[in-house]
Amino acid sequence: MIRFPLENVAGELYVDGVSSLRLAEEFDTPLYVMSEEKIRMQYRRLKDALSNHVDRARVLYSAKANSNLAILRILHEEGAWLDVVSPGEVHLALRAGYRPDNILYTGTSVRDDELGYLLKEEVMINIDSTSQLRRLLRLGIPKLLSVRVNPMIGAGHHEHVVTAGEASKFGVWEGEALEAYKEAREGGVERFGIHMHIGSGIMSVEPYILASERLLKVAKEVHESLGVEFEFIDLGGGLGIPYRPDEDELNLEEFIKRLMSFIRERIKIHHLGEPEIWMEPGRFLVAEAGVLLTRVNTIKSTPTKSYAGVDAGFNTIMRPTLYGAYHHIIAAGKLDDPPVKEYDVVGPICESGDILAQGRRLPELAEGDIIAILCAGAYGHSMSSQYNSRPRPAEVLVKRGEYELIRRREGMEDLFRGQVIPERLRNPNRC
Ligand SMILES: *Cc1c(COP(=O)(O)O)cnc(C)c1O
Repeated sequence: MIRFPLENVAGELYVDGVSSLRLAEEFDTPLYVMSEEKIRMQYRRLKDALSNHVDRARVLYSAKANSNLAILRILHEEGAWLDVVSPGEVHLALRAGYRPDNILYTGTSVRDDELGYLLKEEVMINIDSTSQLRRLLRLGIPKLLSVRVNPMIGAGHHEHVVTAGEASKFGVWEGEALEAYKEAREGGVERFGIHMHIGSGIMSVEPYILASERLLKVAKEVHESLGVEFEFIDLGGGLGIPYRPDEDELNLEEFIKRLMSFIRERIKIHHLGEPEIWMEPGRFLVAEAGVLLTRVNTIKSTPTKSYAGVDAGFNTIMRPTLYGAYHHIIAAGKLDDPPVKEYDVVGPICESGDILAQGRRLPELAEGDIIAILCAGAYGHSMSSQYNSRPRPAEVLVKRGEYELIRRREGMEDLFRGQVIPERLRNPNRC
């Protein structure tokens, strides 16, 4: 698991050239550390792989994986466009310098005032239902519209992240897609794309091939019946990364080669012209760039278990509790020490589900040790909360031995922000 941006320097964990122990000391814990180089590498790997197999490929970064402005800026510099899912993310994207026509909005259960905001900002709109389309067309005509088609095939690392298939709330059922494009065209929309996003944490190409077969069949129908020329075909995000030390990395070159040759062939058979091919990964670009540092404050044992109590909980990183997700854990200052003991690594939240890892073999831990939770760059900070009234952690960006704070740690006052105490309940002494 110790591979770039991680490094073992005399038993101590370095991230992109910076000592993790030093960062923990300087910024306190829990602390998210993001490697700029790793993000740029992942983007280039994917963009290059796509460009090797199709003439016009585009990568949209899915901002919800990690929406820090500095991360959005890095990917903007690389040339990424953006996949966003809320008006807040549109706002962040514009703030980070993305052009509205480089932003694709894919909402679900979208309100009318959100639709109005999207029209005002002139971002591209990917519709999730015919209801949304009809309400949108009453408010205005988007410059470019696509339909998120549910190709009835989904995949993912947990049932909560499968986003297509009969039991999914997402997208327009494939049998209804033609009607949606018809209404959009009659409503005055002139530029079109087509979209799917089937799930998250997918490690094999097969579900993409099965789903895109159906997606492109829908595209063919729409093209033949309505004469719609698709400017892009968006295959969604969902590319997985290896979270476990014994897990193989996705063979990206092979994956993209197989998927793209299939797509090229279908585009040709169905006479779909020369649409751009888009993918919109979140996890793949940022997960491995991130490490969460947390400090052991309590060691305790029962007759059957040893616990390492740390200062990060499911308020800090939710994936283990939410999905039973595995994050590899290492003792950041004891990389060369033998793993001699099994620990449950648990957080400070008053719920039994607040377990970051169970039965992990680690070196003998002591109170004060720094623990690193790996592959925490995606859906880590962006899913954090103030539950139990704990301020959210800081984020630091590292780059080849340099580091900068990119999000200040929240303070106690952030816990009260926005709260209002009615006059009659005020404490005369304190507030
Ligand atoms: C979340 C999301 C993505 C990114 O998913 P990853 O698994 O992080 O790649 C892409 N597209 C849409 C519409 C999403 O909601």
